[in-house]
Amino acid sequence: MFQRNFSLAQVTSLGVGGPADYFIQPSNVDEIILAQRFALDKNLPLTIIGYGTNLLIRDGGIRGVVMRLAEPFAKAKVKSNFLTATTGCLFSSISKLALHHNLSGLEFAVGIPGGLGGAAFMNAGAYGGEIGPLIHEIEFVQNGEVGRWCKEDFSFSYRSSRIQKEQHMTIVSQVVLELLPTNKSIILEKMNDLQTQRRSKQPVEYPSAGSTFKRPTGHYVGPLIEKAGLKGLRVGGAEVSCKHGGFLIKTGESRACDFLKLISIIQKEILEQFSVELEPEIRILGED
Ligand SMILES: Cc1cc2nc3c(=O)[nH]c(=O)nc-3n(C[C@H](O)[C@H](O)[C@H](O)COP(=O)(O)OP(=O)(O)OC[C@H]3O[C@@H](n4cnc5c(N)ncnc54)[C@H](O)[C@@H]3O)c2cc1C
Repeated sequence: MFQRNFSLAQVTSLGVGGPADYFIQPSNVDEIILAQRFALDKNLPLTIIGYGTNLLIRDGGIRGVVMRLAEPFAKAKVKSNFLTATTGCLFSSISKLALHHNLSGLEFAVGIPGGLGGAAFMNAGAYGGEIGPLIHEIEFVQNGEVGRWCKEDFSFSYRSSRIQKEQHMTIVSQVVLELLPTNKSIILEKMNDLQTQRRSKQPVEYPSAGSTFKRPTGHYVGPLIEKAGLKGLRVGGAEVSCKHGGFLIKTGESRACDFLKLISIIQKEILEQFSVELEPEIRILGED
């Protein structure tokens, strides 16, 4: 059931990070429940990851159990204007499924890598769209039991959701999205436009974990980093992208500690030069 000492670098988009003591990729809710109960019974910490596109896992890895909800746990269906999907589905695939059924709302998601679980956890969004307002119902596993939240229960805000604040480990297993029937050509045009913008502005050709920092009130991260003269700054193979200062990219051999060092240099410089505190958007997990 579990793999031991599993290298997590291979399941993150940045490609850095140490091993998980126990690693499992469930393919259904029963397996999720069993794995959570195993961790609870053995008093082991449990960490949930999706496609690892928003993660910086430290070089010492993650103790206890790491549960990855990805390809083996990907099923989706559409009924009327409701799209129901398990959280191992890629967010971009869900967006394309909506297009196929002439449903609008998920156009912004077409270029966002990662899974539906990560998207719900992070309240992922782009170009004015966000997953939070589209959520009709969430199914989750908590303390080895299945539960549900409806629209009113799922509070979200910029890159923040109820899942992040729950006292008990909450594993999102399924999401129901309410979308709007629209003409396919309108949806497609919007998707193509957003993809073009993304490719021209973001360093999608290099490994990264997306935007490193949350947008501070009244500022944009990329221009602040550019003004501070930090574009192109390197620690090992970790580099501040010259294309978009908000992205840290992997340009060669590097370790998580290189990215962590780069993050703290940027935070210090931006605080000193502009009195702005940058809070990481990426989730930093594990131990040094
Ligand atoms: C090139 C690039 C561009 C990006 N562009 C955007 C963008 O435009 N907008 C945006 O919002 N993000 C963007 N991202 C970040 C990332 O793709 C999204 O946040 C994505 O939704 C994360 O999904 P994931 O499956 O990779 O989650 P992971 O990175 O694996 O996990 C992220 C967090 O979600 C939690 N989590 C994951 N699955 C579950 C689950 N089933 N239940 C409970 N918790 C869970 C994890 O514990 C972790 O804390 C970008 C990333 C890259 C690399």
